[in-house]
Amino acid sequence: MTSSPPARLLITNARLLAPESGELTDASWLEAVDGRIAAHGTGRPPATPEDARVVDAGGATVLPGLIDAHVHVLLTTFDVHEAANWTAGYATARALKEAERMLRRGFTTVRDVGGADHGMARAIEEGLSIGPRLIYGGKAVSQTGGHGDIRPLGDDSLPCCQHQVAGARIADGVEQVRAAARDEFRKGAAHLKLLVSGGVASPHDEVSAVQYTEEEIRAAVTEAENHKRYVTVHAYHPRAVNQALRAGVRCVEHGNLLDDETIALLLEHDAFLVPTLVTYDQMAQFGKLVGMPEQTYNKIADVREAGLVALERAHKAGVNLVYGSDLLGPLQTAQLEEFNLRAQVQPPADILRSATTTAARLLRMEGQIGTLAVGSHADLIVVNGNPLEDISVLTRPEENLLHIIKAGAIV
Ligand code: ZN
Ligand code: ZN
Repeated sequence: MTSSPPARLLITNARLLAPESGELTDASWLEAVDGRIAAHGTGRPPATPEDARVVDAGGATVLPGLIDAHVHVLLTTFDVHEAANWTAGYATARALKEAERMLRRGFTTVRDVGGADHGMARAIEEGLSIGPRLIYGGKAVSQTGGHGDIRPLGDDSLPCCQHQVAGARIADGVEQVRAAARDEFRKGAAHLKLLVSGGVASPHDEVSAVQYTEEEIRAAVTEAENHKRYVTVHAYHPRAVNQALRAGVRCVEHGNLLDDETIALLLEHDAFLVPTLVTYDQMAQFGKLVGMPEQTYNKIADVREAGLVALERAHKAGVNLVYGSDLLGPLQTAQLEEFNLRAQVQPPADILRSATTTAARLLRMEGQIGTLAVGSHADLIVVNGNPLEDISVLTRPEENLLHIIKAGAIV
């Protein structure tokens, strides 16, 4: 089913960056066979058969392809009136194009947390469309009046939001949440995204609003665990975040307003935090230009400054931190800028781990992606410069990104 990569790829004259150790080797070679890393070392590279593809990296750095754990490939516009004209097919075509652009920035895996489905992942896997590995969670689940309920206030139609390709589905009460979770897992969701607090992009709720009860969240967690999957939650305020962590969720998106108890709960549960600083930064700078509604724009200040403080506290406490961008519409071009924002409070090696090894652990793909370990997928990027000294080299792909390799094939 997958498009066949060349059997062998040999990269020579490269410095290998292993995120685990945060170290860079001297001149080395790396060999990939059948899409997986087969060997690497210093000194003379192995003899290669005629059909092998050989890439001389010219002293550049080779590191695992990047992982962005919070993307919305389907949210390609801020214009809700325009989006209402889109068919599911058109929205998907745009989303797959967006996914391709992500790959071309160096993200060889992305986790979609709102709407992407098995058909889109399959189109990429079969080579119908060029893109990163797409880990999808199906539709996010929201309570009535929650972050995913985007009906205008004059709209009394029920059920809400079903026709919106990128929208959330509504579920109220333990039984409905359970059914929604089962339905998304039926369709292959790798995780379930639950919207448990107000949000910036939802016009009618407050960021500090708590959504869902502990019982409802617990029901979703039970279903996820029964399916050997996990629940991740969109949440900002500790009242919402901490309730969700107590109910057993494995991952928190945003978490900008976290408190000491949040940190303690994240550590106690070995849970993950996916800050998404760049989305507030971009919305504050360009939101009005790209047609962001006024009510949304006014909420950015509530979370923007706090986000960096939260990241620093979580980093110092040793929380599992994962790279996320959460950009919407035309702002998605800034997907790599999260690296620069995090560099204000974290050393480059730690930021790199958040976009490789730690992200892989969240995705339960440890040892498969985000690493140069022998046997893992040969998802690699070749970049000018040393990201361990200056993480910003990753943020200028037009200048520095020499090659993108997915499953041993050069993109
Ligand atoms: Zn969110
Ligand atoms: Zn999001």
